[in-house]
Amino acid sequence: MVNSMENTKSREWLPEKVAILGAGRSGIAVAKFLLEKGISIFISESCTSDELDFILASNGMADVPHEADGHTEKVLECGLVVLSPGIPSDIRILNKAREARIPVWPEIELGYRHSKAPFLAVTGSTGKSTTVELLGSILDAAGKEHAVAGNIGTPIIQEAPKISEKGFIAAEISSFQLENIELFRPRVAVVLNLMKNHLDRYESEDDYYSAKKSIIQNMAGEDTMVLNAQDENLVTWAQNMNGKVRIVFFGMNIKDASCVWCFGSHLYGRFDKKVEGIADISSMKIKGKHNIGNACAATAMAKIVGIDNEAITKGLTEFAGLPHRMEFIREINGVTYYNDSKATTAESVECAVNAFDSNVHLIAGGKDKGCDFSSIYESVKKNAKSVRLIGEAAGRIMKEWKDIAEIKKVESLKEALEEISGMVNSGDVVILSPGCSSFDMFSSFEERGDEFRKLVNELEEGSS
Ligand code: ADP
Repeated sequence: MVNSMENTKSREWLPEKVAILGAGRSGIAVAKFLLEKGISIFISESCTSDELDFILASNGMADVPHEADGHTEKVLECGLVVLSPGIPSDIRILNKAREARIPVWPEIELGYRHSKAPFLAVTGSTGKSTTVELLGSILDAAGKEHAVAGNIGTPIIQEAPKISEKGFIAAEISSFQLENIELFRPRVAVVLNLMKNHLDRYESEDDYYSAKKSIIQNMAGEDTMVLNAQDENLVTWAQNMNGKVRIVFFGMNIKDASCVWCFGSHLYGRFDKKVEGIADISSMKIKGKHNIGNACAATAMAKIVGIDNEAITKGLTEFAGLPHRMEFIREINGVTYYNDSKATTAESVECAVNAFDSNVHLIAGGKDKGCDFSSIYESVKKNAKSVRLIGEAAGRIMKEWKDIAEIKKVESLKEALEEISGMVNSGDVVILSPGCSSFDMFSSFEERGDEFRKLVNELEEGSS
C-alpha cells in the first residue's frame, strides 16, 4: 500500500504488487507487461471462475493469484489498481481504494508512463476509430515509426513500450479512460465532437463533456489541442483556455486562427498565419461529410508533428475505411446495402442518412443510450423512404419519429430485411445504422454488423 501519493508522480513508479480489474484484452496486456517487469499481480474479475480460469490458462497465467465473481477487499492489499476500460470508476471497491490512498489508474496511464514516444490522442463522441486510423495511415505513408492503439482494440500498454522516442503513439481514448488519469499528457490531442452520448453512464451532459475535456488536464505550453470549429461547446471551451496550450481548429476556415478545412475537393491549412493547399482528397475512399471532418482532424494532427503534404495526401486517399462504419456490403439489382453497425449515436445515424438522397431504407434501434432522436427527425424524414426499428429503443424512437412514412417496429434484423426487400427499387440504399448500442440483442456491435452482413449476403439476386 502507498503511504504517500507523492512517489506515484515519478513517471515509472510501480509498487511491488498491482491489482488488475478486468481480464479482457486490456487487463491481460497489463498483466503480461507487469509480469515481465517482475511485479506481482492480482487479477480481479466479475465473470464466473470457470470463465476466468479459462482466460488465464489460455494466456499462460493459470498460476497468477486471482478472484472471480466480483471484486473483494483483496484488491486493497495491492499498491496500485489498474482499471480495464469497461469498468465504471465509481464502483464500491474503487471508492474504498481511494479512501485507502491506493492510486487507481486506467490502462492508458500505465501505457503513457512506459512510453518514450509522444502521444497523439483522439477523443470525442464519434469518429475516433476512423480518425485514429486515418492518422495511422498518414504516419505509415510518411514512413514514421508508430503504433495505433487504445480503444480501437490493441491495448496501449502492449504497443507503447516498443516505440522509440522518434516515433508516435496514435491513441484512441474514451471518456471513461480519462476519468482517472494522473500524468497522462498527450503532445497533441483532438476532441472531435461532444454529443449526447453515454448519458446512461453519466449523471448529466456536463459530466460527460467534462470527462472528455479532462484530456487537457496535464497539457501545457507547446502541446496542441485540435478542436472541431463547428462544435459550439468546443469553441467556447477554446475561448476559455487562456493560453494553456496551442489551439488548432478543424472543419472550418476561421479567420486568423490556425486551422485545417475543406474547400471543394482540397484540404487547406493555416499555420503560422500562412495559408497553404495540403491535400487533394477527391479520390478518398471513405465517403460522407463527417469523414471529411475526420480527415481534417487527422491532417491537423499530422501537420502539427511535421508530416509533409505528400504523405498526408497518400495516407488519406489510401485508407480503405473500417468494417461496420458505412461499410459497403453488396449491390443487388441496383440496390446497395451498407453496414453501419458502429453508429451508436443519433448524430451518426444522421450522417448515414445524409450521405444519400431521399432513397434510404433505414434499420435503427437497439439498447437505449438516451440519445436525442428528435434532433435528427428532419434528416430522417427527408432522406428515409422507410424505417424499421429493432430492440429496446424501438418504442421510444417510434414515438419521436411517428409521422415518418413507412415506419414500423420489427423483431429482428432478418424481419427488417424481409420487409424492406418487398419495398426497394433500383437506386435505393439499405443501411443498418442503429443509433443505439447492441447489448440488448447482441454481444457487440461487431456481432450485430456481422449478422447483418451475413443476412444481406444470403439475399437472393431476385429478392429486391
Ligand atoms: P468511434 O470510434 O468514436 O465510435 P467510429 O470512427 O468508429 O467512431 O465511427 C462510429 C460511427 O460514427 C460510424 O457509424 C461512422 O460512420 C460515424 N461517424 C464517423 N465519424 C463521424 C463524425 N465525425 N461525426 C458523426 N458520425 C461519425
